[in-house]
Amino acid sequence: MKVHILLGPPGSGKGTQAKRLVEKFPLTHLSTGDILRDAVSKETALGLKVKAIMAEGKLVDDDTVNGLVFARLQDETQDVLFDGYPRTLQQAEALQDFLSSKKIGLGSVVHVEVPREVLEARVVGRRVCTGCGEIYHLATKPPQQDGVCDLCGSPLKHRSDDTAEAFRKRMDEFDSTFLPLLAFYGRQPGFLAVNGNQAPDRVFEQLQTLFKENA
Ligand code: AMP
Repeated sequence: MKVHILLGPPGSGKGTQAKRLVEKFPLTHLSTGDILRDAVSKETALGLKVKAIMAEGKLVDDDTVNGLVFARLQDETQDVLFDGYPRTLQQAEALQDFLSSKKIGLGSVVHVEVPREVLEARVVGRRVCTGCGEIYHLATKPPQQDGVCDLCGSPLKHRSDDTAEAFRKRMDEFDSTFLPLLAFYGRQPGFLAVNGNQAPDRVFEQLQTLFKENA
């Protein structure tokens, strides 16, 4: 078993690409953002603890997120694709220790690069299906019927951290945590950057080639 990592800023398309990759390859998609949002919507103890932090666009503390991830990895049998984790150098180092202790390998680490000016428009126009998680965009990928998912008919929602204000806070957090993370993973043999400022199909083609090579 190996773990693969998609790194990139909010709005880089990591989530969209991860969903497509797990349809094509035997990978488990592990999005810490999805796990935390699920906890918030179910109002679990974890959800109540992180709700305000997430709505403000701040990062949840490292120990909480590491604990969630390691618990999931314990039960996993196939390769895992991380989306939104690790987010800090501390998370990356803790993950590395965990993987070494369990003899789990690190596969591809892909940085999805997108210029900053493109990201805000992507995030503010993003709408997510409350049923199946499909991702839409009001300008570039609108649903056929306003506010309704084409795939499962559930209502779409605007994430509370996808407002312009929360996005800017998330980018501030990102700027302060991402460079050390990039320096850490840039040294790993499976590291690669992909241009995320292209049509999603084109990005997907490049990621598929990479995952075919590393399968
Ligand atoms: P995402 O869906 O990846 O954009 O994550 C949404 C929000 O969940 C983030 O803004 C954070 O508040 C929280 N979150 C997700 N992943 C992490 C992580 N690895 N570390 C800390 N907070 C996280």
